[in-house]
Amino acid sequence: MVESEYSKLNKYISNGVMHVHSVFSDGSGDINEITLAAKSVGLEWIIITDHNTFDVKEGIYNGVCVIKGEEVSPLNGNHYLALGINEVILPDDDIQLVIDNVKKQGGFGLAAHPDETVLRRNVNKPIRWINKSKLPDGVEIWNWFSAWADNLNDKNIFNLLYAFLFRHNLVKFAPDDSLKWWDELNNIKSDIVPATGGVDAHALKIRKYLVPLTIFPYKMMFGTITNLVYLNEPLAEEFEDKKSQILLALRNANNFIINRSVCPDVPFFSISNSQCNVTCGEQINLDEKTFLTVRTDKVVDIRVILNGERISQVRTKDLQMPINKKGKYRVEIFLKNKAWGYSNPIVVC
Ligand SMILES: [Zn+2]
Ligand SMILES: [Zn+2]
Repeated sequence: MVESEYSKLNKYISNGVMHVHSVFSDGSGDINEITLAAKSVGLEWIIITDHNTFDVKEGIYNGVCVIKGEEVSPLNGNHYLALGINEVILPDDDIQLVIDNVKKQGGFGLAAHPDETVLRRNVNKPIRWINKSKLPDGVEIWNWFSAWADNLNDKNIFNLLYAFLFRHNLVKFAPDDSLKWWDELNNIKSDIVPATGGVDAHALKIRKYLVPLTIFPYKMMFGTITNLVYLNEPLAEEFEDKKSQILLALRNANNFIINRSVCPDVPFFSISNSQCNVTCGEQINLDEKTFLTVRTDKVVDIRVILNGERISQVRTKDLQMPINKKGKYRVEIFLKNKAWGYSNPIVVC
């Protein structure tokens, strides 16, 4: 198993989901239901980001670490996933104010579903990041619900039925525009701009048909886009310790975004030189023995991206590539014409 390779880097991995809505905003589940779903698919932590509220009580429930954030949600767009904050942040049309307020509280934030194209309930236009010159701390590059809804064809009954039954077929890739914007932000800023993947689970219940529908149950959503974080120590026992480990890893871009419905395995990504090995969110010096490595248990298509430009695409389960240029390297992994995962960058300096 490729997964065990992380122990050579002295890394411990922990998988969790972000961007979950509960009964405290427009989700249908309480914390007990949500954590039972997370536990049943083997997740160790979840981040609840209800809209404009901070009422969830965080802690450990059913063995799952529940961290609360907030999806600051102005009416017209600029949804911002605020993490590591202590009190509720009011939505404001001036997104810079929101970004600054998150920072003032010592937190960090991610632009949620920045390139969504569909209409959600009760809105007149897609909820996007309106002005991309306003720089968030990080970007939610892949949002399962958004990707699903974006790919709904004509909303006739057959297409809707197909989309409901074969939901995983609709979620193929992170939006190109989001990846491009994220790369641009990384080219502007010297630090790594972190990316996350979110599920945007609401488990919306519809009772107008003969059979009540849930779109989509938490358990199903939690088997899709997760964030594999890399920790320097095993995940702690106490809640506060777990919370700081996970938030620090996400803030530092020490995570790999994977869609577990495409493949439940763990990919390995590292850059090494003659002295050491590092992974997502870390940096390493260029020397004559610098190599980029990607290993997987199955044969996959691997793209290597340097400063936003694709420099290689190969089909293999074991990529070893010599590196002779400085910059931010990230990888994308595809299986059966779908994206399986997106790494955060490693900086070679
Ligand atoms: Zn949103
Ligand atoms: Zn949301």
